[in-house]
Amino acid sequence: MKKKVISVFFVFLIFCFCLGGEDIYLKKRHQMVRVDIERRGITDRNVLRAMLNVPRHLMVDKDLRGKAYADHPLPIGEGQTISQPYVVALMTEALQLKSTDRVLEIGTGSGYQAAVLAEIADQVYSIEIRENLASSARKTLKQLGYKNIKVKYGDGYYGWEEYAPFDAIIITAAANHIPPPLIKQLKEEGRFILPLGSTVYYQMLSLITKKKEKISIKQMGSVRFVPMMGKVRKKK
Ligand code: SAH
Repeated sequence: MKKKVISVFFVFLIFCFCLGGEDIYLKKRHQMVRVDIERRGITDRNVLRAMLNVPRHLMVDKDLRGKAYADHPLPIGEGQTISQPYVVALMTEALQLKSTDRVLEIGTGSGYQAAVLAEIADQVYSIEIRENLASSARKTLKQLGYKNIKVKYGDGYYGWEEYAPFDAIIITAAANHIPPPLIKQLKEEGRFILPLGSTVYYQMLSLITKKKEKISIKQMGSVRFVPMMGKVRKKK
């Protein structure tokens, strides 16, 4: 009997310890949203809620979890990075997502941006050119219970014809030009955001809107992303 009581007590202790651990990350996440996102001008309630909900620490290596809520990018393997939280929030807000929207992401990476989009939109389709990253993001997103995200391994330059057209498109790698297939797969009145410019130095965060088959571009400040690979690097 005594043994049983002791073991129940230990299980309880472990349970409290686990809860306490998660609580620390939740606190950090609240602080990140308040200090690095809200204070820097992001006001869309849906974006703030999404950033509060997604457990960013579970999308990086165990030894980087302590740094997951600092406002900078982190390595995710194969020389790639998970973008800094503020930039994720800024790009998501610019897309003005509605709960009925269908979104295409190019550059799944860790799956973090896809999860943030999936918290707001109806369906997220994400393409990743590195097979290992595509399969580990697919696994993480499944474990986290996201049922409205599809991840495909391939070159995002060509988009995802099967599910087009999209209300919104986001490229999370630096492109030296706008891939024409993606413009085609963007709905009328759709929004498309990408870091456009040099793939070696800085890019201009560019928001494209499509109206009556014409596109307009709004520049939103300079950013630095890892380069987009594949067809985009060949001549147009
Ligand atoms: N959105 C990611 C971070 C993106 S890092 C996150 O939230 O973690 C950029 C990613 O784009 C890398 O994983 C890289 O492999 C991928 N990528 C680069 N070129 C690509 C292409 N042509 N198609 C699809 N993915 C691409």
